[in-house]
Amino acid sequence: VSERTPNPDAPSHAARRAPATTSEDELVHTIRRLLSGNAPGVVLGPGDDAALVELRPWLTVLTVDMLVEDVDFETDTASPRDIGYKSVAMSVSDVAAMGGSPRYGLVALGLPPGTETRWVVELIGGMREAADEHGMSIVGGDLSRAERLVVSVTVVGEVATERAVRRSGARPGDRIVVTGTLGGAAGGLALSRSAPHRGATTEWGHALLARQFRPVARVGEGQSLAGANATAMIDISDGLAKDLGRLLRESGVGGVVRLVDVPVDPALQEGAVSLDVDPVALAMTGGEDFELLATLPADEVQEAAARLMERHGTPLTDIGEIREGSGLFAVGEDGDEQPLAEEGWDHFAG
Ligand SMILES: [Mg+2]
Repeated sequence: VSERTPNPDAPSHAARRAPATTSEDELVHTIRRLLSGNAPGVVLGPGDDAALVELRPWLTVLTVDMLVEDVDFETDTASPRDIGYKSVAMSVSDVAAMGGSPRYGLVALGLPPGTETRWVVELIGGMREAADEHGMSIVGGDLSRAERLVVSVTVVGEVATERAVRRSGARPGDRIVVTGTLGGAAGGLALSRSAPHRGATTEWGHALLARQFRPVARVGEGQSLAGANATAMIDISDGLAKDLGRLLRESGVGGVVRLVDVPVDPALQEGAVSLDVDPVALAMTGGEDFELLATLPADEVQEAAARLMERHGTPLTDIGEIREGSGLFAVGEDGDEQPLAEEGWDHFAG
């Protein structure tokens, strides 16, 4: 065999240039290509020192989220595409909770040495997918080496001045309402961590995994709630009890929730026995549902619920009332009212 005979087992030229040897410049170029195709308003996208965009003379909404490997996500249960999608959806959800629209995004990545280009391409693909769904464009970013994967997404949005909804405006007598259903994301996490995946191939299993890995930011719903004179609003990222506690504190009021009215994710109801979880507990304390929690004047609730269903196909549920004073209380099935510590589901468990 002469030296010039091609050896079928030798790595091809393309393979030798594969991931580990990809330079940072090449990776940046690849990412830019994935992010090209700018939405209206982008004057200059990725590639210069900074992006240039147009914003309407409204209020500008700014938010940033950071996800750290093994703290906020696990690469053995979540795909890079899902991590990318979720990182954008999370920040978009914060814009939605102000009653705003997302317009532009910036991405910062910390990548451990040896991260495959393919992994990063999938991650960016998921980001692009979420950005496209919300009509926003990712206009720039930065890369650095890090000990663990770090994914940070900044979103710039806008909201008409009189339509911005804060956490701090709830008043005694307002109704407490929530979009969609709760507990599904926590159920999906429990399912993804169960071994073997109990029910992963069932319909409820698919639904729960989608809630965990493909959260939907309630942008249109947030605007509809703002239009229904919502007095306060927050997105549920850390669980109903905790996020409602935040809203009450910021507003300087108390609140009471009727547990029987809390909308538990139907897929969670169905899978609860297989997963060995308490569905109402997950609905109250499980995070990452990214539903919107708002307070509305009592006479707005019915019309707001009809509008959300008609425009977005999303249910709006009245779960309780704002009252004077402070603290979060829950009324159980027996009609008894008890204080609800933010993490303290124990009072109602069992
Ligand atoms: Mg939030």
